[in-house]
Amino acid sequence: MQAKAQKMRRPAPRRGASPYPLDRELADDLVTANRTLARLAVLDAFGHVSVRDPRDPHRYLISRSIAPQSVTAADILALDLDSEIVDPRDEGKLLYRERFIHGEIYKTRPDVNAVVHSHSPTVVPFTVTRAKLKPLLHNAGFLGLGVPLFEIRKSVGDGTDLMIVNPRLGRDLAQKLGKDAAVVLMRGHGDSVVGPSLPNAVFRAYYTEINARQQLAAVTLGGPINFMTRAEARTANDAMLRGSARPWALWRKRTMAELRAEDE
Ligand SMILES: [Zn+2]
Repeated sequence: MQAKAQKMRRPAPRRGASPYPLDRELADDLVTANRTLARLAVLDAFGHVSVRDPRDPHRYLISRSIAPQSVTAADILALDLDSEIVDPRDEGKLLYRERFIHGEIYKTRPDVNAVVHSHSPTVVPFTVTRAKLKPLLHNAGFLGLGVPLFEIRKSVGDGTDLMIVNPRLGRDLAQKLGKDAAVVLMRGHGDSVVGPSLPNAVFRAYYTEINARQQLAAVTLGGPINFMTRAEARTANDAMLRGSARPWALWRKRTMAELRAEDE
């Protein structure tokens, strides 16, 4: 009787607090995304990548807080769209401070299934000058969907560390990204890039950096720059939505070989 009374006094389990096994294939894809973007110098020791869980659109997978270059499948965990852990076994793990970028974008953009946040080095100058990042390379046609600039001072005033460290800032950033854009620039910080699939988001994050480099090079050559037209940008974006599967196969193969070598 006493045992039964004690049992009844136990608090109810936290909502959703049950083990949430991850899809191994998807976790491996996320490892590939992290390591590839680190190898391509889009991510350095900072930045992160996530993918929406196709089994539950209210959850996404992301690494615990470590450098992207060293992410393995064991580091991947699931968060809900408030960017809280869903599996009690992940309690106590260090999470990325800026994880709200991901959760809040997934809330506002049902078409988005992957997000890359980086401090893409050549993109940053375009966030602090009047120069507008515009598509000049066919791979970067998605820039023609718009490249809004998020100014954190307009959200919360002066004196922040420029990072998206709470849900409110995440919401403001997602709002600035808007309904159509694939990239939102973040003043003095970097960018967040989205895509309908993980391969496409990785592809776009890489070509945002490449287009920025090439635009900078074009400016130094002088004279007017012949940017892509709006119509060209849209057509090229459609082609690249299909075309991003090719580099992805190569990137995944290379990452899997790298992981095997690390195990030996
Ligand atoms: Zn950041």
